[in-house]
Amino acid sequence: MSVLEISGLHAEVAGNEILRGVDLRLESGEVHAVMGPNGAGKSTLSAVIMGRPGYSVTAGSVTLDGTDILSLSTWERAAAGVHLIMQYPTEVPGVSLVDALSEALQHRGRDTAGLSDLMKAEADRIGFEHRFLDRALNVDFSGGEKKRNETLQLAVLQPRFAILDELDSGLDIDALRDCSRRVEELSNDADNPLGVLAITHYSRLLNELRPDHIHILVKGQIVTSGGAELADVLERDGYAAFTSDDEEVAEESAPSSLDDLFKM
Ligand code: ADP
Ligand code: MG
Repeated sequence: MSVLEISGLHAEVAGNEILRGVDLRLESGEVHAVMGPNGAGKSTLSAVIMGRPGYSVTAGSVTLDGTDILSLSTWERAAAGVHLIMQYPTEVPGVSLVDALSEALQHRGRDTAGLSDLMKAEADRIGFEHRFLDRALNVDFSGGEKKRNETLQLAVLQPRFAILDELDSGLDIDALRDCSRRVEELSNDADNPLGVLAITHYSRLLNELRPDHIHILVKGQIVTSGGAELADVLERDGYAAFTSDDEEVAEESAPSSLDDLFKM
C-alpha cells in the first residue's frame, strides 16, 4: 500500500497566497474528492503536487510513502507514480500517443510488448475510437476526446496515485460515465489499487466514481471533510453553506489566468 500525504501545504502564485494550509492523506485504493467553488485553489493544489513552474510552496510538505516529492522535478514525480489529468490537457504536436506511452513505460522498467493491443482494449472500454490512437497527443481533439485520451493513458500507465483536475469538464454524459467508471475500476484493482484525488466543481463526476471521502476547499483551505453524503448536501445547497456570508461565490466564472495557462 502507498500513501500520498499533504501536510500544512501553503503555496503562492504571482505573489498571492492561494493554498493556506492544506492537509490530506490518501491511501492506495481510496477515492478522495476535493470539491470547491471556482477560484478556491483546486487547480493550484494539483499544480503544486506535480511541480508546475510558477507555483511556490511557502510551507508544508507533500510526501509519497514518506519521501518528499516537492524537491523532485515533475517527470520524477510522475515516474514515482503520481499522475495528473489536467483540467485542460496540453496538445503536443509531433508526439504520438504510442510513443509517449512507450517512453513512459520503458522509463518505469515496464514491458512495452503488446502496448498497441492494450491501447486498443483500453480505448474500447471507454468508447475512444481507434482512429484517434494514431494522432499526435491531444492535437485537434475535442474537450471530451482529450479527457478520454488522458483516461486511457492513466489506465495504461497504472500509476500509484491519480489526480483528476475536473475530469468532468468538457465531457458529455456518456463519456463522463465511461471515464469515471474506468477510474473507479482502477481504484478497485486487486493487485494495484489506484489512489484517486478527484478534483471537481460538480457532484456529477461522483455518480460512477464513488468517493470514500469528500473535502470542501474554500479559499485555499479544507473547511469540511466527510463521506459521500457531503456531495448530496452540495447538490442541494451549493457552496453557500461552506463559505462566509459576506462573500459571494461565483458559480461559473470566466477562465482564470491559470486556466489560460493550461490551454496553452
Ligand atoms: P480553481 O481551480 O479552484 O478554480 P485555481 O487554483 O485555478 O482555482 O485558482 C485559485 C486562485 O489563484 C484564483 O484566484 C486564480 O486567479 C489564482 N491563480 C491561479 N494560478 C494563477 C497564475 N498562474 N497567476 C495568477 N493567479 C493565479
Ligand atoms: Mg481549476
